[in-house]
Amino acid sequence: MSTLLIYNGTVLTMNEQNEVYTPGYLYIKHDQIVEVGPWPVNEEEGRHLLQTERQIDAGGKAIIPGLINGHTHLFQTFLRGVSDDYSLSDWLRQVIWPGSIAMEAEDFYLAALIGCIENLKSGATYIMDHHYVHTYEENTEGVLRAMLETGIRGHLARGGVDLSYEPKLREEEEQIFARTDSLLDRWQGNGSGRIEIAMGPLNLYGCSRPFLERAARFSQDRNLITHIHVAETSDQIENTLARFGLRNLELVEAVGMLGPKTQVVHGIWLDDGELELLAKYHASVIHCPVSNMYLASGVARVPEMLSAGINVALGTDGPGSNNCQDNLEVLKFTACLHKVHHLDSTLLPAMKILEMATRGGAKAMGREQDLGTLESGKKADIVIIDMQKAHIAPVHRVSSALVYNANGNDVHTVLVNGQIVVDQGRCTFVDEEEIIKRAQARVDRLRDQLAKEYPVYGIRE
Ligand SMILES: [Zn+2]
Repeated sequence: MSTLLIYNGTVLTMNEQNEVYTPGYLYIKHDQIVEVGPWPVNEEEGRHLLQTERQIDAGGKAIIPGLINGHTHLFQTFLRGVSDDYSLSDWLRQVIWPGSIAMEAEDFYLAALIGCIENLKSGATYIMDHHYVHTYEENTEGVLRAMLETGIRGHLARGGVDLSYEPKLREEEEQIFARTDSLLDRWQGNGSGRIEIAMGPLNLYGCSRPFLERAARFSQDRNLITHIHVAETSDQIENTLARFGLRNLELVEAVGMLGPKTQVVHGIWLDDGELELLAKYHASVIHCPVSNMYLASGVARVPEMLSAGINVALGTDGPGSNNCQDNLEVLKFTACLHKVHHLDSTLLPAMKILEMATRGGAKAMGREQDLGTLESGKKADIVIIDMQKAHIAPVHRVSSALVYNANGNDVHTVLVNGQIVVDQGRCTFVDEEEIIKRAQARVDRLRDQLAKEYPVYGIRE
């Protein structure tokens, strides 16, 4: 499809002024937004609009830039809900590690397909997948194929851990860098530029200092994003203090990893000095409130970060600790978590939350110039949300309705790179029912196998 008109809906441009057109329109040519403005336009201005190949009447709907999910682990759709109510370390040891080691390459592909479908159908057009299970080399290919086939904009942070982690998930430093280079050769820019590769050292406590230093140089040499879990739990701070006498972010700086292309995932247990480092180096924080609550990790200092001018993007985190990928649900959790934590209901207004999920995400990805807002010249990554539902209507302020009322089930149409990838709530590129059926059969087999050693996998109530 080369031209598309979306008209008659409420357009939240999310531009610098957060302009809203009630109603408005978007004129899209190939993969780009050409025009955006108030609707209707006069006959003279609109003559070319009537010639578009496809037109979508978005009456009663909201039109927003695609949400950017700054952090997930797609393979965990296969492991979600095995057990709740575990500490982070027990959850890793009894659920995530055994489950991910038992998964085969085909499982990673199917799990990622489901994850991509769920992300698209809940309003995310762009995801950063932190993929760190390399038991089979084909695992990573499976995740990338899922991104390619579903039509989502996918960035894969090639995870790696070399020192202190479940032995079957550790790798030799050489293998991590060789395989990341191989992914860059074969996948960078695939899918008309939708697919990208980042460097993703897993965390600070599992990685050696030489590996972190080399990862920082590797990213700089190739101009990649570096994506890393930092300060997720308080004991992670004790770990780097004991090993190096440095707090988490001080270590990130010391190994040369801190910069504008650095994504600090979680960043919960940071002190004032570390917030100053984030601001000084223009690094981004990826905030995952649902996961932080689910694992009782703590509350990131998001209002203070924003006041300090630090860019904050949002993420679902993996389906193992969420347990879904509903990107609209994350908006409400973000607002409510910080309001109650500070006992201050004036914090984080709805439009600010939407900014983090769109412009903030684009900035974190280094894509401010072509993503994150609905403006002329930007990529057509667009989400249309049905607001005429009993749990949303009647609508006073569309930003509030999107944050506090809408959920993933309200997503009507999704465009990525100008292509309609979700049409009236259904994925257009892949067969959702078929994928779910195949995935359930593989998971049933996986459960039977794991239950012998890990009783939690045998519990079904
Ligand atoms: Zn994570």
